[in-house]
Amino acid sequence: MANLSLQGIRKSFGSVDVLHNIDIELDDGGFLVLLGPSGCGKSTLLSIIAGLEPASGGDIVIGGRRMNDVYPKDRNIAMVFQSYALYPTMSVGRNIGFGLEMRGVGQAERNAAIDKAASLLQVKHLLDRKPGQLSGGQRQRVAMGRAIVRNPELFLFDEPLSNLDAQLRVEMRTEIKRLHNTLGTTIVYVTHDQVEAMTLGTLVAVMKDGVIQQLADPRTIYDRPANMFVAGFIGSPS
Ligand code: ADP
Ligand code: MG
Repeated sequence: MANLSLQGIRKSFGSVDVLHNIDIELDDGGFLVLLGPSGCGKSTLLSIIAGLEPASGGDIVIGGRRMNDVYPKDRNIAMVFQSYALYPTMSVGRNIGFGLEMRGVGQAERNAAIDKAASLLQVKHLLDRKPGQLSGGQRQRVAMGRAIVRNPELFLFDEPLSNLDAQLRVEMRTEIKRLHNTLGTTIVYVTHDQVEAMTLGTLVAVMKDGVIQQLADPRTIYDRPANMFVAGFIGSPS
């Protein structure tokens, strides 16, 4: 696990500025939610943290180490998207352990790690199935299991629940919260859903047009919104 520091992060695509001077300090074990409407730059910021996209300016520091020029594969970061991207021909168990397999981790150690992750996410009974035989919620659990086995120092989620129906969203929200409490992982979580943000986050960054409108704990944002935009966004129904 590690703390995360974003210092003056900027991003332009051509002449279009999509992120302006993003400053965020997230404690080790914290749960940061990037909250804002579609197009405000949440996924771009997440991609920059993951190293999938270079920043146009600023510094990314993870666990005290400046990461600007570190390749994604050399960052100990796991990412979970809304599209699960499981390998359809591999069993659930092999899907979960595939990252370890690629790193040359031996079978015994791999199986132990798969077992632990599968227990934690309650998918142990599904290890021999193929992804096509799972429900949406089960697939999302497997995708999280695959992320967990790598023991990442930072967990990134990009709207992981947006493809799920309302009831399952609530269930998975609880699951993610439990995961965070159990593992103590540092998490950055992107959503446009204010209820998700307020229930999950220890720190919430409300964004609009690439600018952080307010960075605070959920209670403060709810009780003392920094401006009309924040008040409207938090108050609006999902
Ligand atoms: P969000 O995740 O909040 O919906 P994004 O980070 O995906 O927002 O996008 C922020 C802005 O950057 C949008 O205006 C989007 O069109 C633009 N954008 C994202 N990726 C690219 C890209 N590769 N090239 C050009 N513009 C992009
Ligand atoms: Mg997005």
